[in-house]
Amino acid sequence: MKQKSVLVVGAGVGGIVAATHLAQHGFKVTIVEKNSRPGGRCDRISRDGHHFDTGPTLLVMPLLYEAEFAALGTSMREQLDLLRVDPTYHLVFDDGSQLALTSDMDSMREQLEDFERGSFQSLQRYMEEGGRHYHLSMEKLVNRDFRKASEFFRLEHIPLIYQLKPFANHYRNVSAYFADPRLKAAFTFQDIYMGLSPFEAPATFSMMPYTELAHGVYYPRGGMYSIVEALMQLARAANVEFIFDAAVQRIDVASTHAQGIILAEGGHRLEADAVLANADLPYVYQELLPDERLAASLHRKRFSCSVISFFWGLDKTYPTLGPHTLFLAHDYRENFDRIIRDLSLPANPSLYIHAPARLDPAMSPHGQDTLIAIVPVGHMSENSEQAKQSCGQDWGRIRDEARQHVFRRLASVGITDIESHIKFETNFTPLSWRKRYNLMKGSTHGLCHNLTQLGYFRPRNKHPRYHNLYFTGASTHPGTGLPTAMVSGHLSAQRILDELSS
Ligand SMILES: Cc1cc2nc3c(=O)[nH]c(=O)nc-3n(C[C@H](O)[C@H](O)[C@H](O)COP(=O)(O)OP(=O)(O)OC[C@H]3O[C@@H](n4cnc5c(N)ncnc54)[C@H](O)[C@@H]3O)c2cc1C
Repeated sequence: MKQKSVLVVGAGVGGIVAATHLAQHGFKVTIVEKNSRPGGRCDRISRDGHHFDTGPTLLVMPLLYEAEFAALGTSMREQLDLLRVDPTYHLVFDDGSQLALTSDMDSMREQLEDFERGSFQSLQRYMEEGGRHYHLSMEKLVNRDFRKASEFFRLEHIPLIYQLKPFANHYRNVSAYFADPRLKAAFTFQDIYMGLSPFEAPATFSMMPYTELAHGVYYPRGGMYSIVEALMQLARAANVEFIFDAAVQRIDVASTHAQGIILAEGGHRLEADAVLANADLPYVYQELLPDERLAASLHRKRFSCSVISFFWGLDKTYPTLGPHTLFLAHDYRENFDRIIRDLSLPANPSLYIHAPARLDPAMSPHGQDTLIAIVPVGHMSENSEQAKQSCGQDWGRIRDEARQHVFRRLASVGITDIESHIKFETNFTPLSWRKRYNLMKGSTHGLCHNLTQLGYFRPRNKHPRYHNLYFTGASTHPGTGLPTAMVSGHLSAQRILDELSS
């Protein structure tokens, strides 16, 4: 039988994983990537001995990684040299109080009881619920590919409406467990990873704080980019071919099928039996495919926020900073409103600082430091020029304000001299996210995970008209995050195998 061929647009994690599964099953697979390196959002910058993970910094949901590496015929522990991060986060509140989120339950009891009497017991109950949400979501929603409506709308799924609390509001739900607003924030802030405010997210997402405490947060020695390096080795071993520095200009389609792709440079055409697009889904529909109606309907969906990131090489070390520090603003709700509703920067933003050298000293030169500061902001409103005019999205100004907020927050924990110790800075704004990875609206996590964009309602991994055009990645099923990108790649590959092998 003739060897089947697949062209993959984009070497993000979903694309590499899908390609490897297909190649392991005898397909001829070529990945075409616009950038000079693989990984997409899971990227790395290195300069003068400082190494920065520019996208993901937290290895969460380790059970998903375990399952996905096993599906690729290896093991997570064989591929990654994992360090457990515990405490996971150091939370700093506006009133100066701090909370170290840890799996050490004695320490949690001691800390929580200082915040609110009885709150440790509440945490145990909240974790029980989070555990139920996690396991049911993984089994019934995340690891499933809903190819037909009948696979989602089943009698057996009805109890999920009660079990997963999809219609309950997460913040209201957490308020049944804790009274102190700082604790409510401590166990809901993870919703931002899904592009949601806890004031609108389904209570189902209590699974995130659950998995962080129950299964742990990890850091692969060498940084998160070592996940991409491990996946690349597996891909190359399976004979996946890579073409870098080659932007795809268009997916070449006939009336009911995809014929191949057209490259931007020279208009070269490559043909294959199927095309799998890993580039951000709304971008693919808008820029690479002809149907304007479908593109417009995706464009109208809800997008997650963006972030402004600062990457600093410092000539001095700051050992008092933990690996993951989160400054949570007291005007918690206002923060989310400004980001999600007003597409802006809050007046007093919550923000996150990552110091990778606390976990792996090789991430910075000896006696120096490598810091990443991330400030969530609204996604871009249409194109930048229009936004500048109509919504005041002047990203240069917003970036400078965000930088001052980081300095101010660091000063609140006694780090007052950082500005004078910055040897160099690289920063990303929403414009950078859009330009580097073609992320629509500069939205770092793609389409968000509100109820109408989850499960069967999330855009499908296959085009409705072109029978051999498939999708994988953050804006498709099951959604955003590195481990979910691996799941997405796996599910899409399985579908291609089922449909092309028959
Ligand atoms: C700031 C930030 C922090 C994050 N933190 C975490 C975290 O801590 N933990 C976690 O698990 N996840 C995190 N994530 C989410 C995670 O990085 C993503 O969900 C995941 O990497 C998405 O993978 P993907 O398969 O969708 O591919 P992408 O990363 O979207 O890659 C798609 C690829 O397609 C390429 N491409 C686009 N257009 C074209 C074209 N026309 N031609 C050729 N190639 C093209 C792009 O260059 C890119 O390489 C974070 C993301 C960001 C941005």
